[in-house]
Amino acid sequence: MSASPALRYLRDYVAIPSVNPMRRTDLDPEIVGERRYAEHLRRQLEGLRLDVELVGPPDRPSVIAVAEAEGARETLVVASHLDTVPVDGMEIEPFDPRLDAGRLYGRGSCDTKAGMAGAVAALERVLADGGLARNVVLVGEADEELGSLGIRDVLSALRREPDWLVATEPTSLRVVTRHKGVVHTRISAAGRACHASEPAGGSNAIVALARAALALDQLGRRVSERRDERLGAATLSIGVIGGGSAPNIVPDQAWLLIDHRLLPGEDEHSVREEVLEALAAAGLQDLSVDWCRLEKPPLHTPDEHPGARAVAAAVRAAGGTVELAGAAFGTDAGVAAAAGIPGVVFGPGGIAQAHTAREFVEADQVERAQAVFEALFRGAE
Ligand SMILES: [Zn+2]
Repeated sequence: MSASPALRYLRDYVAIPSVNPMRRTDLDPEIVGERRYAEHLRRQLEGLRLDVELVGPPDRPSVIAVAEAEGARETLVVASHLDTVPVDGMEIEPFDPRLDAGRLYGRGSCDTKAGMAGAVAALERVLADGGLARNVVLVGEADEELGSLGIRDVLSALRREPDWLVATEPTSLRVVTRHKGVVHTRISAAGRACHASEPAGGSNAIVALARAALALDQLGRRVSERRDERLGAATLSIGVIGGGSAPNIVPDQAWLLIDHRLLPGEDEHSVREEVLEALAAAGLQDLSVDWCRLEKPPLHTPDEHPGARAVAAAVRAAGGTVELAGAAFGTDAGVAAAAGIPGVVFGPGGIAQAHTAREFVEADQVERAQAVFEALFRGAE
């Protein structure tokens, strides 16, 4: 049996490297950046007679393709990020997609080129028989895996106000209406350098930072007492630490990075305040919060929102069972929601396979996702 269009497209997409540079300098330029994949999609979508443009920086472009439906009352954005995580340590050929025992292997197969493949194949079919009932803005955005720069480029370039958005991410075909947000914070300690043979003459920034790390770990325990019924607990984790310059110098600087997973209602301001309070309560001085960045806002779309109901109806129309869910990971749907465009997250593949050394997606899920997108584009509600 020959592969379905969605699977054929998925193989094409996986074969085009689109690795997020992740602010690293050691990655092969041949595989870094979203441009090749964006250009491929531009050609493919222009072939479907869509109005296509690339926005954002030339080496990190995002794609916007518009399909107008006659007499449509609604405009839906389907956003599927273009970038993948890097390929260090992969145990399969990352860009040579292989179908084996019903699974398609390759970097991005699951996260999240499968979602794009399902959406494009669905749109192609619906356009071919004139069944489009919603205006569809198909978006491929850069940089979801790091700073969400692409979705911001897209949102500022949109020429119409969309009603709602579906971000395709590996949700195992569940309809995700809520997810946690992500804040990253850098904290540094300032000391006074001197010769290590007479340490009393200086002030050790690493020791000060170590005390702060312990206080922050205590704070993490209190943070994780905050729970959301569907999302579980908020979290705080210290992820990176650095400082000093040589063993024989008392260090005058040290720093660490914290990752917070937020519940709806929390943001970078509440995080900053809580961190400063914890440091002050522990009597720690000479510490500062260098920055506190909201990387991904939380998502909290009501289950009865028209977008959530439409995707649920499309799942049912495609013969599936609706499962409304929460997710622990952040997505660009949170960024769009914070910008006033509510949305949900839905797509083929399991998050447990995303970013792994043997990333794969179940072929059957890709085809079922195509059927769901088809029902959505045909106006399921
Ligand atoms: Zn993803």
